[in-house]
Amino acid sequence: MKLHEYQSKDLLAKYGVPVPEGEVADNADDARAIAEKLGGNVVVKAQVLMGGRGKAGGVKLFTNANDAATFAKELIGKRLVSIQNPDGMVVEKILVGKTIDIAQEYYLSVLLDRNAQKNIVMISKEGGMEIEQVAEEHPDAIVKLEVDPAWGLCDFEVRDAVKQARIPKEAANQMVSMIKKLVKAFIEEDADMIEINPVALTPEGKLIAADAKVSIDENALFRHKEFDETSSDSAENAIEAEAMRRGIAYVNLGGEIGIMANGAGLTMQSLDEINAAGGKPANFLDVGGGAKADRVKSCVELIMMDPNVKGLLINIFGGITRVDEVAKGVLEAFDQLDVQLPVVARIEGTAVEEGRKILEGSRIIPAATVEEAAKKIVELAYA
Ligand code: GDP
Ligand code: MN
Repeated sequence: MKLHEYQSKDLLAKYGVPVPEGEVADNADDARAIAEKLGGNVVVKAQVLMGGRGKAGGVKLFTNANDAATFAKELIGKRLVSIQNPDGMVVEKILVGKTIDIAQEYYLSVLLDRNAQKNIVMISKEGGMEIEQVAEEHPDAIVKLEVDPAWGLCDFEVRDAVKQARIPKEAANQMVSMIKKLVKAFIEEDADMIEINPVALTPEGKLIAADAKVSIDENALFRHKEFDETSSDSAENAIEAEAMRRGIAYVNLGGEIGIMANGAGLTMQSLDEINAAGGKPANFLDVGGGAKADRVKSCVELIMMDPNVKGLLINIFGGITRVDEVAKGVLEAFDQLDVQLPVVARIEGTAVEEGRKILEGSRIIPAATVEEAAKKIVELAYA
């Protein structure tokens, strides 16, 4: 789960990482008041969960509170579009921060490297808005430091990595200290990504986090009740937020064919078959093992919340899950929601005979295989 920049900075500040003074606002008046309090030299930053805000026009520097407020007014409610996020996101909140004088911009991140099977720290002297280009064209300019899961980081390793990254002497000690704090925060907060880009070096020789992106491992959210409210307002999609509240594994994929399957593997297969049949999946949804009619109904409801959905594919292989429970849930949901869309179901496994009987005479079209089901639903939905 991605945290906003202002939340990320608050979190890092708890670990002693230097961050600029600043406050979040959702209207121009508050933005003006914060800017005045900070002395007028402020940077106004869109709080949207996407990269490349600078290039998208979501970050601007000001020398007085009035101009900052005018820009805030313009920015709030606007949709920002970036290369990383062509669909864009609407700005609801802005961060008004004290402007830092920046002499140099460095890059620092901590993330899990699945190949190394370790957390790694990435350090670069070439920070700033072109870091993607640096990664592509000069990968050597990014130094990687593996964190040993048993021993953690030793001082000398961190020093060595900072030296390899050619961070200038006057900033090296502060960089070492910042890295250790980031790794501590990463582990204690169950983060799966922390990125500071840029780490700013001021003309006075101070290192400070000018930007911050933290993402928390969603599987660990039960340990972090402090993010409960965030989890719903920062989910990329309102349906995903609702799914999270219902404890259902749902990811919106933007297509037109709703998918309800059990088990991640079978769900992935359903997505593949829909794609192979020339359709676009609207979602990933795993009803989970042993789902009863209630849960199935709740899943159908979720899928139908997506206005893009033109048809539904049901792909259930009953193991612990009984197919008749699924059939009951689906029909109940259709009744209540008055579903008029085409629905094709491939059901197999435990209690399949009872399940088929329940579906007989309903609007659900049976299919013998997943491939056949995918072809049928694509044909009907896009007709
Ligand atoms: P991003 O584009 O979404 O990563 O947003 P950033 O917070 O990194 O801001 C984009 C760029 O704006 C940074 O790379 C900096 O060059 C610049 N910037 C952001 N905050 C400040 C600041 O306080 N002072 C100065 N001088 N530049 C800033
Ligand atoms: Mn940045």
